[in-house]
Amino acid sequence: MTNEAQVKDCLAQVMVPGVLRSIVDMNLVRGIDIDAGQVKVTLANTALNQEAQDFIAKQITALCKLLPEVETSTVDFTEVSAKDLNEVKNVIAVMSGKGGVGKSLVTGLIAMALQRNGASVGILDADITGPSIPWLFGLADERAGGSQSGMLPARTHTGISVMSMNLLLPNEDDAVIWRGPLIGKVITQFWEEVLWGKLDYLIVDLPPGTADAPLTVMQSLPIQGVVIVFTPQDLTAMVVRKAIKMAEQMKKPILGVVENMSYLHIPEMNKKMELFGASRGEEMARAAHAPLLARLPIDPDLVKLCDSGNLEDWDSEDMEALSDALYKVLSLKNNQP
Ligand code: ADP
Repeated sequence: MTNEAQVKDCLAQVMVPGVLRSIVDMNLVRGIDIDAGQVKVTLANTALNQEAQDFIAKQITALCKLLPEVETSTVDFTEVSAKDLNEVKNVIAVMSGKGGVGKSLVTGLIAMALQRNGASVGILDADITGPSIPWLFGLADERAGGSQSGMLPARTHTGISVMSMNLLLPNEDDAVIWRGPLIGKVITQFWEEVLWGKLDYLIVDLPPGTADAPLTVMQSLPIQGVVIVFTPQDLTAMVVRKAIKMAEQMKKPILGVVENMSYLHIPEMNKKMELFGASRGEEMARAAHAPLLARLPIDPDLVKLCDSGNLEDWDSEDMEALSDALYKVLSLKNNQP
């Protein structure tokens, strides 16, 4: 006789079209009934159009046929909201006091570090008016899929789930000229109406600064930790302090700070040039009462990889150092009572 575990194994092989994650990973399986050679599977139809539903049902029927003593199988779909299906274990926000400091880049690197260590990871690009995440991951020409009942995230080369305003615009260079409340609404929809499924980590690329939009995200998403990104100029120190204060006022623990564009390494001279001035990393870490996770150099390779949408190919000692530091703070946090 076929048992539930065997049916579950079959379902774990059935992929949601476009997302390339299984219906089990997307948490769509609502019920499995086995009765005298009859298997009945109930799935949520969330974010699945008719074509996707038919495709999935066909695959399930074909796979169940191969199970011992199964004569017939049926697949029923039921309506469930994406919000009720999503099981996101950790939400981490990446913020900066101002734009252009590499916040999106660091969001991407954090997601990559976690993904490379085997975690399932998504990126919610909450930088609605300046979304650069799809660009960094080569998703500029992708559009989000889905149906009336929800949106499906896009998927990067290595399998990170991504939702961004640019995946919804007819053209990636269309401008989003909206006021605060509308932007806030979209960000909430990215949390509630996107089928993220089961994720170990969702990394949120916050809008820059300390105004309305980042505040809305902080208030409406269950953010468990914040990473603050900055570059080593004098002006930055002031805006970083604002970001630190905002996180503290919102009672969001700061996991660490990242100094980006900290220096330029010139191998011919074996020299590190601090183009924007001396490092403020330790000073900012003290102000945030959190560790300095990384001092990232200005790396010409990184510019090329970002511009060609191949950020995921970045492999360097700096990436490993960031990854190690990140895991250290996360394991400390998880071991806290
Ligand atoms: P922000 O999100 O803070 O506005 P981004 O992360 O979008 O900034 O960064 C803008 C661009 O700056 C990136 O696409 C990349 O080309 C470049 N950049 C950022 N940090 C670095 C770095 N450490 N080395 C090289 N280029 C960088």
